[in-house]
Amino acid sequence: MSFSKLSASEFFGTNVFSKAVMKERLPKPVYKSLMHTIDTGAPLDASIADTVAATLKDWAIEKGATHYAHVFYPLTGFTAEKHDSFLSPDGEGGAIAEFAGKTLIQGEPDASSFPNGGIRATFEARGYTAWDVTSPAYILENPNGTTLCIPTAFVSWTGEALDKKTPLLRSMQALNKQAQRVLKLFGHVNPATVVAYAGPEQEYFLVDRHFYFSRPDLLATGRTLFGAPSPKGQEFEDHYFGAIPERVLAFMLETERELFKLGIPVKTRHNEVAPGQFELAPLFEQANLATDHQQLTMVTLKRVAEKYGMACLLHEKPFSGVNGSGKHVNYSIGNATQGNLLDPGDTPHANAQFLVFCAAVIRAVHRWAGLLRAVVATASNDHRLGANEAPPAIISIFLGDQLSDIFDQVSKGGAKSSKQKETLKIGVDSLPTLPKDAGDRNRTSPFAFTGNRFEFRAVGSGQSIAGSLVAMNTIMSESLDYIASKLEKATAADPTQLNGAIQKLLEEILAEHGSIVFNGDGYSEAWHREAEKRGLPNLRTCVDALPLLGTKEAVELFSKYGVLTERELHSRMEVYLEQYCLFVTLEARTAIEMAKTIVFPAAIRYQGELASTCANLKAVGYVFDTDTLDKVTALVKELQDGIVKLEASLAEHGGGRSKLDHAKHLCNAVLPAMAAVRKTSDMLEGIVADDLWPLATYQEMLFIK
Ligand code: ADP
Ligand code: MG
Repeated sequence: MSFSKLSASEFFGTNVFSKAVMKERLPKPVYKSLMHTIDTGAPLDASIADTVAATLKDWAIEKGATHYAHVFYPLTGFTAEKHDSFLSPDGEGGAIAEFAGKTLIQGEPDASSFPNGGIRATFEARGYTAWDVTSPAYILENPNGTTLCIPTAFVSWTGEALDKKTPLLRSMQALNKQAQRVLKLFGHVNPATVVAYAGPEQEYFLVDRHFYFSRPDLLATGRTLFGAPSPKGQEFEDHYFGAIPERVLAFMLETERELFKLGIPVKTRHNEVAPGQFELAPLFEQANLATDHQQLTMVTLKRVAEKYGMACLLHEKPFSGVNGSGKHVNYSIGNATQGNLLDPGDTPHANAQFLVFCAAVIRAVHRWAGLLRAVVATASNDHRLGANEAPPAIISIFLGDQLSDIFDQVSKGGAKSSKQKETLKIGVDSLPTLPKDAGDRNRTSPFAFTGNRFEFRAVGSGQSIAGSLVAMNTIMSESLDYIASKLEKATAADPTQLNGAIQKLLEEILAEHGSIVFNGDGYSEAWHREAEKRGLPNLRTCVDALPLLGTKEAVELFSKYGVLTERELHSRMEVYLEQYCLFVTLEARTAIEMAKTIVFPAAIRYQGELASTCANLKAVGYVFDTDTLDKVTALVKELQDGIVKLEASLAEHGGGRSKLDHAKHLCNAVLPAMAAVRKTSDMLEGIVADDLWPLATYQEMLFIK
């Protein structure tokens, strides 16, 4: 039946081996054991694997599955799958469907071609995938059959993490351990496991597929390497929250249905600021699950867009001159017994527990501001951060009026009151009075408090959110560890000292780390100067930011909390630098090829037309002004010279030097050379006859839907 005839509740989660399905199908003790692992992080009882596998297989086969796949998340940031058939020969010419516990628990993909940053030599190239019970298995549909997908962690045969999930799970464990200590100080008995929650808002562009295929740069690199701004840009702001075009809405509806089937609770959708840009956000979930769901969301967006004759661009900056795309990761921590630990309640000044957790965030973000920049560093995200765009590369925290006021009071000896919510009077009697939020929004802050969570806005639209969550969980663990140790010591002899100790600790934290708080305009020049005075890092590019993963402090941080060993962390830095180099090199090669074989021929054709017109006119006795011909000729020369320069700078990367040196060269020499070629080409685009210009224009790509 057409999906539009079914109500959402009829298919929400239908393709998920959910808790409800497990409860119904698994023997009670097996179900209980599994829930214990899922809810508390207790070790998995391997003896139940056969039963779970058999049940899972039957369920999947009922859903039409012929294959199963261990799904994992290598350091490329993409999703990887290895598909195997359920069928085994029965020895009599037939076949039976089989799925043993050990196949569920462990897989061995041929993993040698995934980036590992030197962790594995080819002689020890084995990699294993291990079942992550905390993220449910699901069915992936395809017109020609369905596949049972099992989320897994991906490790080397020495047990070292080769993926994005393993450190995320480890960081959740660390966070729980430290948060428990703080909760204990507040007198909570047996608090439930503390987890991080994430609600990622996904921005993306849609372009018609014809244009997409006609642009080698979009196809190969995900962004336009050439293209003059269209006469109409985003200045009218008429697209933001405007009515959604019909084809786009049809695409959104189908994307949402597909995501609903996978149990992904998509909630909001709207147009974004730039023309052709849109956003989708799910309800927040436990961070590990949210991360897997986010990966599925990216894949689904791309797949469904194709069906509607469009391409979904997840690149951070597909079009220059219009806003880029980010992924705002809303982050909080909490548990089933205490709820959201970052919820201030109605009287935050009197909510010591909230103030402590909030101060932990302030301290963490200040101490590790550079690290937070480093974990979102990719070649493509550099076009947002560090360029004059939201958010800036300088990491700071927006607290808003209410919290800033409370922390000010704390600094001065103690908080006595909270600014209260006002009501908003609209001036029309028939309209309801609306409660006004205690703090306004701030769109320019990279790390903003938004009522009961922090929103990390520096994450790139095409990135996995795992790296950011790993970093946030780990720096929170460190901060909570620090806080718990101080408070435990202060109250060891006399627990009634808690309040005094908290006041003292908060004062200290604010004095030392309060400079990370900034409520003003993050784009302004004044802030850049002020941030420098405050000593906040401004890491504009990957080559500034990625080396932070290799510092002694970072190594100590990640190893102390059991999240990444020195070798694992080092391998990550290597992989990310390598990816940067590969990516910029690919862009430069694509730019050279397009400049030579697309732009240059178009320019000289037009030049030829102009020249022959001039010659013809001269022959019949007219004096013809050669202004345009002169301009084109000069630009053609500039284009040729620019290409030569770009080629020369790309060729120069010195064999013996380190990856970082190579990356620096690409950042400081190759990218500017590419930009120069682009500038010339964009100027030619404004002169050359439209019917001779072979590339789809910004106007076409951004406005035709
Ligand atoms: P906006 O665009 O106004 O920032 P959206 O509604 O588009 O807000 O997205 C907000 C995101 O934050 C959603 O994914 C939402 O579920 C998530 N969120 C809400 N509360 C929390 C919380 N306590 N922890 C983490 N994420 C949250
Ligand atoms: Mg947001």
